[in-house]
Amino acid sequence: MAYATFDAVARHRRSRTLYSLLAMPARLTVLSGPSGVGKGTVVAKVRQLHPHIWVSVSCTTRRPRPGESEGVEYRFVSRERFEQLAAAGELLEWAEFAGNFYGTPRGPVLERLAAGVPTLLEIELQGARQVREAMPEAQFVFLAPPSFDELGRRLGGRGTEDPATIATRLQRARVEMAAADEFDQVVVNGDVEAAASELVRLIEAVSA
Ligand code: 5GP
Repeated sequence: MAYATFDAVARHRRSRTLYSLLAMPARLTVLSGPSGVGKGTVVAKVRQLHPHIWVSVSCTTRRPRPGESEGVEYRFVSRERFEQLAAAGELLEWAEFAGNFYGTPRGPVLERLAAGVPTLLEIELQGARQVREAMPEAQFVFLAPPSFDELGRRLGGRGTEDPATIATRLQRARVEMAAADEFDQVVVNGDVEAAASELVRLIEAVSA
């Protein structure tokens, strides 16, 4: 084979390899863990420091907390709208949590994964189990508190929920803590920066 032809073939192969790498679907990472463990804070840190990681925006029927905006933390929807989305199969998973519904819009997640974008879901346990059924190839990460007492302190100290809601969330947290073994990885949230960088390391390890 003439050198020029050989070179062209090599270039073609290289670009094909590059193309297939670029087009290769990324793997999904699902972060779960008990309410109050700091999932939201850790994910906010990931978003801020690593904008190449796409974080899914869930739909919820819960009211916005002070400082939350439509389309940023959540898409805030009515119960009727939520039921329509679930019935139309537009949610990858959904669950009821402390009297409200939460769900992950399917389309945006599948689009990002197909485009090779590292994708992160932050959801509670029942939802994580549904994603495991639907997408067993995903990576499941459990965010754990340093201790259960510390979790109680964090839930109480948030100041955004009434005592009945805090009690419901604590009860649910006990159940969620017992499920840590179902996950591929456990990250302990003693320090937000450290937990966020450990999470990013795990996301990048499966998306490389
Ligand atoms: P919060 O009301 O504190 O924002 O969220 C309550 C719980 O719902 C948290 O454990 C959070 O991870 C979870 N959650 C948020 N979005 C979703 C979702 O789309 N699906 C499911 N299953 N849980 C979610």
